[in-house]
Order: sequence, then structure tokens, then C-alpha cells
Amino acid sequence: MEVDLSTLAAHAGARHEHGGPSATPIHPASFYLSAGDPADVPYAYGRHGNPTWEALESALGQLESARALVFASGQAASLALVLALATGATTTAVAASPGGASLGARRRFVLPHDGYYGTRKLADLLRPLGIEPVIVDMTELVSVERALTAAPSVLWAESPTNPYLRVLDLRALATLAKGAGSPFVVDNTTATAALQRPLDLGADATITSLTKAVSGHSDVVLGAIATRKDSIYDAARNWRANAGLIAGPFEAWAALRGLKTLPLRLARQSESALALAEHLVTHPKVARVHHPAVDPRSRALAERQMSGGFGPLLSFEVRGGADEADRVVAAARLIRPGTSFGGVESSWERRARWTSETAPPNLIRLSVGIEAVADLSDDLDRAL
Ligand code: PLP
Repeated sequence: MEVDLSTLAAHAGARHEHGGPSATPIHPASFYLSAGDPADVPYAYGRHGNPTWEALESALGQLESARALVFASGQAASLALVLALATGATTTAVAASPGGASLGARRRFVLPHDGYYGTRKLADLLRPLGIEPVIVDMTELVSVERALTAAPSVLWAESPTNPYLRVLDLRALATLAKGAGSPFVVDNTTATAALQRPLDLGADATITSLTKAVSGHSDVVLGAIATRKDSIYDAARNWRANAGLIAGPFEAWAALRGLKTLPLRLARQSESALALAEHLVTHPKVARVHHPAVDPRSRALAERQMSGGFGPLLSFEVRGGADEADRVVAAARLIRPGTSFGGVESSWERRARWTSETAPPNLIRLSVGIEAVADLSDDLDRAL
């Protein structure tokens, strides 16, 4: 039965067996009772599998019409995917590329210049192992094409980007990646599967930090990948089991509970974020606003590839420097100071306080929660 995404999210992951619990149980187990060939039992050791992870994976997989894997964090998911693509998995695009390039050659990772700084940092840390990060402005498709054709690569995009909320043309990027025989990964953390399905637009895999909107209550650190390619799934799963990049069952359970209300929360958060972004555009204390829909071209692209909202994030540059921005953050009464985003409570921070972040010193990233938008607007105005 074809149902709406919100219906899917509310029911996803639950087994609904007669006499069984309605809610998914938590299975804290380091090992499962077994003897003889471990392949004869569904679970043998806690690092290899867990029923609570699987419930969450089944739910995430349904939202993306794919197979999903959960990891200890978004970064652990990214690491597993980098290792999978650099060491073993093949995609149809790769297999079909001239010479059938092996993934052993896929050490070059083309990354967005304005995306999450942690991804660039992770790729940088892997340089001694032969990983080569190539940073490009992905709004310039010519630059992406040049970067991809220079050598066998992986294209790793993020849209909307964090913290600039730039919207990248995922379909166009997928076409370039396919033409170059490059696996195409999309970091879908800011939108989530509730607002954007990159696999439908041509991506080979998505990575999502579940720490953010998917769990939604600022009480979990967790990550996931989703893919329709068995080779990527198998290689990432292999890395998870052998490197121990595993999720805790309690975290998986909390994320599954959060996922049920994800479309509901994001609809409200997206609507409020857009209203606040539009309000800030004319605010005398604000020099620039970044949001997927404040620029008409970006909005048109976002409307083409997203549905149900533009997400809970916006960022803006206050007039003045870092001190002025710090004063604004400290002056709020409702909006909580701190990093991370996507939770039910609004929060914000001056991004450049993180040394690896490349955002300007006066940029504040605001994550809009589920509070009444009038209260948030009052709080913003008072702080500014
Ligand atoms: N991707 C994006 C876009 C993020 O913003 C983050 C964290 O902020 C991550 C990945 C990493 O996720 P985690 O903090 O769960 O490791």
C-alpha cells in the first residue's frame, strides 16, 4: 500500500506481531545464545548485529527505499563509507566506467568547500593512509566536472550545506559523477529523508547524522548510511563490524522513537525557519541571511529537489564582528546556546568559535525548534 511519508515514519520499524510489544524493545546484548556455526543463528555477537539497530535500519531504509546501516555517530557513518569506497565496494557506475576502475583507486574525495567542516577534517586525518581530499565549490558545476575528470574520484556532496544552507543541484551532480564513473555520496543531514531523497536523484549512498533532526530531542549521538547498492552496503557493514563503529541499542531505540515524529516536527520547524529568515532579511542589525529559500534561484532548485519544507536551519551575519555576534547569542532567553541542530528546542551558536570552521566571525547558525514562531521572533528581536 502506497502511504504518505508521515504515515510510513509513524509505523516504520515496528514488527506488530500478535502478542508482541507494540513498541520496539531495547536489546542490550553483548552476545546471543548460540553454538556451532554462527551463520545458523540471526545474532551471535553484539558487534555484528542487534535487533534494535535492525528496527531502526528497517525504518530508515523504508524512508529512502533502500537498505540502511546505523553507526555510532554521523562521523562513524562517514568513516565507514569512506573506507568502503576506498577499499572495496563497487557501484554500477564504477563497474561500467572505462576499464572498470577498482575502488582501490578511489582515494580522491571531492568535497564541498562550504559543507560540514568535520567531513573535511576527517578526510584530512586520513591523508597519511592515501585519502586525498579535493575541495571545490559545488555550485560551480564546471569545477566539479574538472575535479572528477582529473583522476578516479568519489563525489561527496551536501545539500543544503551546513552552515551556509546553499542548495546544490543534486541531479546535475549525479550526472557528472556517472559520466566520470565516480560513486556519488550525499550528506543528507540538514534535510533528512523526510524532506529530500538523494537516492532518487541519482546518488549511490546517503549519510545522515541521526544526532540532529532524525532523533530530534538532543539526547542521542548516532549516524546512518542508506544505499541501494549491495556492494556499498556489504563493504560498509563489514567495516562497521570489524572496526566496531557500532551504535548502542539504547541510542538506536531513542532515534527510532524520534523518527516517528520527524515529518511532523520538520514541517513545523521548516515553516518557522522560513518565517524567521524572511523576518531577518529586513532586520537593521543583520547584514546577510543564508537560507535555502531567501534567494529565488536557490528556492526554485530547493523546491525541485526537496518536498515538505526547507529544513530547520538558517544562518545570518550580524552587523559587527565576533563580539557583537557573541553578545547576541548570549542575550537570548528561549533560544539555547550550543552546537548541533534539528532538536525540538531552538538553539544557536556563532560558528567561527570552532577553529576548523571557515564561516565568517559574525555568522550565527540558528536551528529552529517547535516553539511558537511568535515567541522565537520576539526572542530574536530582543537579542539583536
Ligand atoms: N554531517 C553534517 C552535515 C553534520 O552537520 C554533522 C554534525 O554536525 C555530521 C555530519 C556528523 O555527525 P555526528 O556529530 O553525529 O558525528
